[in-house]
Amino acid sequence: MYQYILLIIAVILVSYIGLGILAKYYLYYCFCRKISGSRKVYLTFDDGPDAAVTPKILDLLEGFGIRATFFLSGENILRHPELVKRIIESEHDIGGHGYNHIHPWRSGPVKTLRDIYQIRKVFRSLGERGRTALYRPPYGKLNLVQLLCWLWMGQRLVFWTLDPRDYLGHSGTQVGREVLDRLVPGSVVLLHDSRRAPDSDGRVTVEALRLILEEAQEREFSFATIGELYGEEGY
Ligand SMILES: [Zn+2]
Repeated sequence: MYQYILLIIAVILVSYIGLGILAKYYLYYCFCRKISGSRKVYLTFDDGPDAAVTPKILDLLEGFGIRATFFLSGENILRHPELVKRIIESEHDIGGHGYNHIHPWRSGPVKTLRDIYQIRKVFRSLGERGRTALYRPPYGKLNLVQLLCWLWMGQRLVFWTLDPRDYLGHSGTQVGREVLDRLVPGSVVLLHDSRRAPDSDGRVTVEALRLILEEAQEREFSFATIGELYGEEGY
């Protein structure tokens, strides 16, 4: 009897986490195929908006005339609606990034469903402005419930190809150089307009972004949003 219970628990865990891992790798492969032919570079910002960091990033992007994609946390949308309005009015793309940034493998089905319900509710409250089919899973990971829900709701799961880890305490110059040394057409760059990690510093991302934009412009890279990558389907 004891063995059967263990077996049932193992099957549930393998389904809940294992299928999420397998599906993530398949979806990541599809995502890489999608961007492989692109001549553009895609800047993406996760976890915001943040009162201290997001306005500086928006100022910089505006100064260089570049549009990016912001994957917003539901909690932060409610905290800073004026910044969400500014992001949208500046014609950047937005996508969901969970309500509370829960880790999919450490969150059961109930907690996961609650997070999905809450982020959907927040985006619906933005009306037409909140209409998006873009979703970036927190930590780039999925559990089975998230996978089924987001695909059922027709969301496009967006990953990244270049993560300079602006949340690990590196300097802005280090983060900027890490991006610039690896930047190629089709790169999807992961940055953060937040200070979620204890050792992260929003100034690092701002300094890195300035360096990236200056040099990328000299090297004649052109930028686009993830919505543009998918065309009208991205909305
Ligand atoms: Zn995140």
